[in-house]
Amino acid sequence: MTHPNPKTMGQQFGRRSWAEPWKIKMVEPLRVITRAERERALQDAGYNTFLLKSDDVYIDLLTDSGTNAMSDRQWAGMMLGDEAYAGSRNFYHLEDAMRKYYGYKHLVPTHQGRGAEHILSKVAIKDGQYVGGNMYFTTTRLHQELAGGTFVDVIIDEAHDPANLHPFKGNVDLNKVQKLIDEVGAQNIAYISLAATVNMAGGQPVSMANARALRELCSQHGIRVFLDATRAVENAFFIQEREADYQNKSLAEILHEFCSYTDGATMSAKKDSLANIGGWLALNDDVLFEEASNMVVVYEGLHTYGGMAGRDMEALAIGIVESVQDDHMRARIGQVRYLGELLTDWEIPIVRPVGGHAIFLDARAFYPHIPQDDFPAQTLAAELYLDSGIRSMERGIVSAGRNAKTGDHNRPKLELTRLTIPRRVYTQAHMDVVAESVKAVYDQRAKTRGLKMVFEPKYLRFFQARFERL
Ligand SMILES: *Cc1c(COP(=O)(O)O)cnc(C)c1O
Repeated sequence: MTHPNPKTMGQQFGRRSWAEPWKIKMVEPLRVITRAERERALQDAGYNTFLLKSDDVYIDLLTDSGTNAMSDRQWAGMMLGDEAYAGSRNFYHLEDAMRKYYGYKHLVPTHQGRGAEHILSKVAIKDGQYVGGNMYFTTTRLHQELAGGTFVDVIIDEAHDPANLHPFKGNVDLNKVQKLIDEVGAQNIAYISLAATVNMAGGQPVSMANARALRELCSQHGIRVFLDATRAVENAFFIQEREADYQNKSLAEILHEFCSYTDGATMSAKKDSLANIGGWLALNDDVLFEEASNMVVVYEGLHTYGGMAGRDMEALAIGIVESVQDDHMRARIGQVRYLGELLTDWEIPIVRPVGGHAIFLDARAFYPHIPQDDFPAQTLAAELYLDSGIRSMERGIVSAGRNAKTGDHNRPKLELTRLTIPRRVYTQAHMDVVAESVKAVYDQRAKTRGLKMVFEPKYLRFFQARFERL
């Protein structure tokens, strides 16, 4: 077994190895079922890893959403929950933490990220308007469309190429934004939806220079920019590592500057913020905030809890502070890279450079003989589960859904299977087991055939679609 490359892993502190800045205080036993049981579980789940029972999963890399381990400080905070219907003290802690680290003026709490996306889309998009974005995200785009908007991809071309080593593959292509302005007119653009890091591109970061330039271009035309801040702290890590003049700035400073180029943000606190549930919408504009805090009462809950319990807001407020610690993020991304380096050493095709929260297996390169319409990434997720009980997720043609106008599949260039690493949950030994399983599935790739979809839900089909073997 290879070890992490000391050049990339430990260089900054002049030592070879690195380790997590915590120790384990409580453990949860894992269960491994037999291959025959996995075969049955997979069939019952229609070859969709979202439909597996968690009890049938060994190492769960479905998502990093809400699957993080909370710290002893966060658990202690849970006991300080103020479960008042209105004006809970935990809300004010959360508001303080958001203002201090993200720097926006107003906070609207929501039950999770899509709650914030729903409200932002309703208050900021008029029917028939366009929304430019650096690659779509499933729930984000759906809420934009449900509000009457049309999403237009304005990410740089490099993002669609899994092998391209651009250091900021999440960047917005300003020429594409300019072209959109020229074609539809600035008044018909609701806002630019800036994601950091870009989940669907492989957790790829956006540079500070790009965010600043986007702000300038949009300000010239009176267009707002809203940030998907779900993994903005992970994004800050890449800016610190790769962008000139940021090496000596803390993640907290970088995050604050990055957010300053945007007018507000939606947040899924289940990711960066080390919580199990929660989210928020932040806005600088007083009028939009008025509308949003009225709307939250309709869909989420009162404007001082938005669907979260007081204890959840407390855990989240503490999680924000922990998430911006430089040593936390170095270990978090270091673990993702460790897995990436094992796979790269074995010449298994993955999206590179490795991003912030996951390893994305390139299913097109993995299974060149399986056409995209036979769902290669879905197939790979199923095969991995069968081999070892490891649960991953499809990020390809199934996730991309259908074109709202033509009804045909959207066929994304990227056909990926995501191994998502929860924060502070698994050890390096677990990563070794994962790499070995991917290798075993890779070695059998020539024998593997694709799937056909036998049930397709109308919205966000990847969550509940069912498949059969071809
Ligand atoms: C998870 C996620 C969301 C949606 O948040 P939920 O908390 O799952 O509703 C939005 N954007 C990105 C980039 C995400 O990863």
